[in-house]
Order: sequence, then C-alpha cells, then structure tokens
Amino acid sequence: MNFNTALLHAGVDKKEKFGSTLSPIYQTSAFYQQSAEDLAGIFSNKAPGFCYTRVANPTITNFESRITKLEGGIGTVATASGMAAIFSALTNILKSGDEIVSSASLYGGTIDLFRDLEAFGIRTNYVENNNWEQIENAINENTRLIFAETIGNPCLDVTDVDRLSEIAHAHGLPVFIDNTVATAYLIRVLEHGADIVINSTSKYINGSSNAIGGALTDSGKFKWDANRYPMLKDYVKFGPFAYLSRLRAGLYRNAGACMAPQTAFLNQIGLETLGLRMERQCTNALELAEYLQKKYPDITVNYPGLRSSRWHDIGEKELKNGYGAIVTIRVGTKERAFNLLNELELAYRLSNIGDTKTLVLHPASTISLHSTQKQKEDAGVFDDLIRISVGIEDVEDLKEDFDKAFAKLDQA
Ligand SMILES: *Cc1c(COP(=O)(O)O)cnc(C)c1O
Repeated sequence: MNFNTALLHAGVDKKEKFGSTLSPIYQTSAFYQQSAEDLAGIFSNKAPGFCYTRVANPTITNFESRITKLEGGIGTVATASGMAAIFSALTNILKSGDEIVSSASLYGGTIDLFRDLEAFGIRTNYVENNNWEQIENAINENTRLIFAETIGNPCLDVTDVDRLSEIAHAHGLPVFIDNTVATAYLIRVLEHGADIVINSTSKYINGSSNAIGGALTDSGKFKWDANRYPMLKDYVKFGPFAYLSRLRAGLYRNAGACMAPQTAFLNQIGLETLGLRMERQCTNALELAEYLQKKYPDITVNYPGLRSSRWHDIGEKELKNGYGAIVTIRVGTKERAFNLLNELELAYRLSNIGDTKTLVLHPASTISLHSTQKQKEDAGVFDDLIRISVGIEDVEDLKEDFDKAFAKLDQA
C-alpha cells in the first residue's frame, strides 16, 4: 500500500463487531471479565484482553497499531503527550550514571526535560547536529543513546539520519529520533537506521490541535546488550520485543502517562488526512518562504526547501515529498518581531505547530524561555526570530496577511 492508502487502511481493525469504520471509543477505565481466572490471566500477560486503561485499551491499541504501520516498526506505545513519549523512551533504558549524546538543536521542552533528568544522575552531552567529529568525541563509556530531531524545532536543520545511525551503531548505541516536525510523510526514519522513533501526536498526526498525545515506535532491530542495558536484563529473551516488553511491563504502566481513549479516537481521524495536509502544507511553506525571501530582502528566511538553507542538500537527499511546513524568519529586532506578530490577522499567535491553520510564535520568549543563551543559539533561537507553522489556507491569503503586517511595520 502506498502512503495515503495505508493511512486509511493499514492497521485498521476491519473486524469491528458492528462494522464501525472508526475504532469506537472505549471510554472506560476498567474491563469486566467473566471469571477471576480470566482477570488473573490478563494481569499476568498469559491471556490476551484488557483489564485497565492505564495499561491498555482497545481504542488506544488500535491507534498504536496504525502508528506502527505508518512508521514501519514492530510496535508502538502511545502516551499522554509528546514529552511523555520522550520521557518513557529514555527512562525505559537509562539509569543513574548513564549519558545521552544529543543534537543541541532541540525543541525547548526536550532541553528542559534533559536538565530535569540530571537530578536522576542522567547527563546529556550536546553536540552540533551532523558534526560527526564532535559526535565521535562526545561518545564515552557511559553513553547509552544518541538523540536528535529529524528537522530541528525551530532551527530547521535536517539530520542525516543514515550517517548518524552508522556512527551510533559502530559504537553499539541506539539512535532515538524525534520525528514530530518531519512526520512519516517526509521520512520513515526507521528505514534510515534509527532504532526508536518518537512523535508528538499533538502536532501533524492529530492535525487540528484538539488533543495532546505522543507515541514511540521501535524498529525491533537494535540488539540490546544486557550488560550495557541492565534494565533490560529480564527482557532480552524477548529478542526484538525486549525494549517494548520492558516498557509495557514497567515504566509505561507505572509512570501512568497513558494516552486517553478519546485522544486515540481523535488521532485516528487526523491520521486519515495526514498525507493530504502535509502535501498542502509543504507546498504552502515553500511558496511562502520563496515569496518572503524575494519580497523582503532585509529579513532572513530559513526553510530547508530554499537553496539558501545550510540544510537544503541533506533535505534533498533524505526527505521525500517536501521539506516540512515550518518556516522561520529573522526580522532584525525583538521589537519588530513582536510588532509583526501583533499585526498578523490570519495567523494565530500561539504555541503549537502542525495545525491546519497557520500559527506564529516568538520562540525566544516562549518555547525556549527556560534555555540558556548558549542553548538558544545552538537551537537556532534568536531574539528577532519568528516561527511560522504553515497551514492549509490558500497561500495567496497568507502572503497578503504578511504583506499587510510588514506594511504596517514600515509605517510605524
Ligand atoms: C511539541 C513537540 C514536542 C512535545 O510534544 P507535546 O505533545 O507537546 O508534549 C516534542 N518534540 C517536538 C519536536 C515538538 O514539536
């Protein structure tokens, strides 16, 4: 099946009791069983079935299997948010004394989480993305995983996932990729060597900003060494399912950050149009970026689809169908950035990406507020930077919105 067909048919439960075309919402906390033995069987993983929604729920399971198909993995765990997916993905294998090597070009929330992990003795060594020498040098005997975003939010650098995976695997390390900004529409990172792919489903997968959620998917290909990853000691016997079994049996159910059944339902509606929306949003983003670059030579436009982007070549090699739907512009000063944001009429001023509607934001005072000056610079966040998450509107209206806002700025 090709991408858009798969979004409608792959992993969908076609044996639903009453023939419902969407997996129904099992809006229930617990599941009744016919006998005490049946319940005991489910609890001990000896029988299939459901007992408690924090552990598993049919609506969520159905959504998970669709994400597994979408990403080409062997299994998925859906979580309460993208941050919960990252937290679960890491803490499933990390313990005090372990280290992460991560691209410094990250979503601000992830940088904050990595700092929180220091209290548990887990350290992060930041490196410049795609700087292979720095990455090699940052790896030491305590390193347990390599982390990066496919398209950094909001730096818009593109990670060479093939190369990063080669280096990581040569050191016996797994690669964890946050693919929220690119989505599987642009790249299936597991096919490029990544071992775990993480998505904030709150963004493009949901598509209409109506539910916070996350998911992590395992390729099943990484060979976990129980000496290096002692938390997986009892699970390596499950072979490719070692990582996911430990997560399901342990931290996922115990940390309690499960996805809500209602969210899984809303996300399955979103999934159906992921390809169509991404196609339109990527086209709009390229057109808007080219337009702004040409019309306003005194601002800097950053978009991987522009030849002027440092990351255009990697993007061209690695991404299919487009370069994503986020564009950033630098307008000179923070004051001009705020004024421009305030003059825009169509674009929503809010902290989010991946909506059908165009969204604008000043990252330095919002998503990167808690980052240090150095972390901001590394993540491509400047005082005069505006992030535009381009929606599915008619692009002429977006151009007009920016033209009017720029005209008012220049009058002032
Ligand atoms: C939004 C986002 C997250 C966090 O996801 P939530 O669903 O808001 O918790 C993580 N990574 C990236 C790249 C994001 O854009």
